[in-house]
Amino acid sequence: MEMLKGQDNFSVVNGAKIVRSLRIKRCPDCYTNIPVHATKCPSCKQKIKLKVDKHGYAKRPINWFAYFSCFISWLGLVIYIWWAFFKE
Ligand SMILES: [Zn+2]
Repeated sequence: MEMLKGQDNFSVVNGAKIVRSLRIKRCPDCYTNIPVHATKCPSCKQKIKLKVDKHGYAKRPINWFAYFSCFISWLGLVIYIWWAFFKE
């Protein structure tokens, strides 16, 4: 039998036993129950990972654009401070 890590707590959902092949996870954004093999939430269309955390929520993919824009923003601030106060 296939045992996927972190999904053992799905044998009982809302007090009712579910079939092991019908395992579910929850969307981290809209909390909808979705099939465990889904990579996109059918309700809010958010991309999610196949992995499930210990609370039963699907993991979000890393938002590289957010990291990148944060880095650019800090870089811009540092350059501005250098330009405004330290430039000869
Ligand atoms: Zn969702």
